[in-house]
Amino acid sequence: MRFISTRADSNAPSFSASDAILKGLAPDGGLFVPESFPRIPQGFTLAKGAWYAMYQSLLPYFEGDELEGELEDICRNAFNFPVPFHRNGGRDTLELYFGPTAAFKDFGARFLAFSMERLLAKRNEDLTILVATSGDTGGAVASAFHNRSHLSVKVLFPKGRVAERQRRQLTGWDGNVSSYEVEGSFDDCQRMVKEAFMDPELSGLSSANSINLGRLLPQMAYYVYASSMYRLIYGEDPVIVIPSGNVGNATGAYWAKEMGAPISRIVLAANANRPITDYLETGKYEPRPSVMTLANAMDVGAPSNIERLFHLFPDISSFRASVSAASVSDEVIRATIKEVYEESGYVICPHTACGERVRRDLVSEPWSIVVSTAHPAKFNDTVESLIGRTVAIPESLYGIMQRPSVAKSIAADYHLLF
Ligand SMILES: *Cc1c(COP(=O)(O)O)cnc(C)c1O
Repeated sequence: MRFISTRADSNAPSFSASDAILKGLAPDGGLFVPESFPRIPQGFTLAKGAWYAMYQSLLPYFEGDELEGELEDICRNAFNFPVPFHRNGGRDTLELYFGPTAAFKDFGARFLAFSMERLLAKRNEDLTILVATSGDTGGAVASAFHNRSHLSVKVLFPKGRVAERQRRQLTGWDGNVSSYEVEGSFDDCQRMVKEAFMDPELSGLSSANSINLGRLLPQMAYYVYASSMYRLIYGEDPVIVIPSGNVGNATGAYWAKEMGAPISRIVLAANANRPITDYLETGKYEPRPSVMTLANAMDVGAPSNIERLFHLFPDISSFRASVSAASVSDEVIRATIKEVYEESGYVICPHTACGERVRRDLVSEPWSIVVSTAHPAKFNDTVESLIGRTVAIPESLYGIMQRPSVAKSIAADYHLLF
């Protein structure tokens, strides 16, 4: 199996999965996509657990790759937590938040960390991962890379601009993970990372952002698992509704569908950031600055994975044939969290609330899954006042919050990182 750039012409080079994972971005600046989509392998089974089903759906992408023989081990270690449905008569919720930082990004970050560790050991090389974060990504990456050999991580976040619980997830580390509290904005943090990458004096730097193939492939794998499991339970192919920002999670679902996963259609749920909803309406794609919302992990005005969706659906008519999307305001997010809780006692986070709203308003089919992207306890500031009670913190998150918080406070100058 080979991977090409979204910007490749017919005689451009192709890459193995391992090379694509270590490179992050294709040499021409495009994103890596498979040359063609494999089918779900013969003998695919749900009987050995979610991690094993995910392993089987990843295997064809690693055929002939240097990690092929280690993939089973990588998956067993990376996906060592449950992937349950909250069942509700076919209008179910897939809870992707049982990893160490209680959000779906744990799947991708852990798979990437375990894969990179093995690749670097074979090459006897070391890498330093730089992450600028305004919230969830930094925590997932720090947790996944903590204590992985041949790797170190520098997490940059804007001082005073992340929630206290988020801050603890960014700073509760030691050893190979260092946290930097930057006197500046998130944009300053991102600029520092970009400048460090461009500095010819610095080498051995890499990123772990959501465009890396090693983060995307696991998101494809849990859709193969979940849709197959749903079909086994109900005998139907679900509509899947995905709360989306950078559309990496949704791209995983489209890739799963290309492989033949039993998914009837895919619907994107956005917050007030509307680059995709507007594209569907007007036929003109216009990235723009993001606006702040309660579903802050989806505050994206220029989705970084959109190039992968355009590669699958190159013009507006093919895009419209496969992609639907709707946008949900903060006011409606609040109302939906409350409505769902009052109806059934089920507590959802603001991102998941966007998905649930879109299902209630726009999905007429009786068979659907809303993807729950984070545990509601991560967004207690918003959720608890709406439902009038506290939300218990999951054990994994509690563990991180007990660790001593360590961060170096620095000015917004990348030289201070080294
Ligand atoms: C990152 C994130 C999203 C958005 O996922 P994309 O792949 O960027 O579309 C949604 N919800 C939560 C909780 C997230 O952390």
